Amino acid sequence: MDLAPLIRNVPDFPKPGIQFKDITTLLLEPGAFAHVIDGWKDRYADRGVQAIVGVEARGFIFGAALAYAMGLPFVPARKKGKLPAEAIVEEYGLEYGTDSVAMHVDALTPGQRVLLVDDLLATGGTVAAVARLAQRLGAEVVEAVFLVELPPLKGRERLGEIPVHCEVEFMVEE
Ligand code: AMP
Repeated sequence: MDLAPLIRNVPDFPKPGIQFKDITTLLLEPGAFAHVIDGWKDRYADRGVQAIVGVEARGFIFGAALAYAMGLPFVPARKKGKLPAEAIVEEYGLEYGTDSVAMHVDALTPGQRVLLVDDLLATGGTVAAVARLAQRLGAEVVEAVFLVELPPLKGRERLGEIPVHCEVEFMVEE
């Protein structure tokens, strides 16, 4: 299934010069959403994955669906200040300033094999910070999976040894 035409490009959102890849148009097509989730379920069926970590906010959509399909725990990696119980925090650099993500300290256990899920890999700063959270709790990151990758932004390099899988690639100017 060709997923690329189902992802809407919104120029200059949220600021001039950004080509925003809008996955909400793909979510309007139940067959396409099912194709993505069923494909990932098959891909990871024999990889010993024990928990799914979804990255706020659009990673929750795909991550929670995959966790349900696979019968696995779902762990939200949230923006700092949103989680109610004791949490750990990792900062990451943005073009200007920093942002941070958090995870409950009891969300993962040492040795647990986890899959990281988000909608899109750009610079990789966000998911690299989420990987550090999982690793601080002793978990082993099996792979990071995304619907969309923007290869010119070199997000894979930020993830180092962690394998990456994506369904659709866009050159940034498309
Ligand atoms: P990064 O940390 O640079 O890899 O950015 C990844 C996060 O920002 C993901 O959660 C994406 O949802 C969002 N994001 C970054 N760039 C874009 C883009 N061009 N279109 C849509 N979402 C984006």
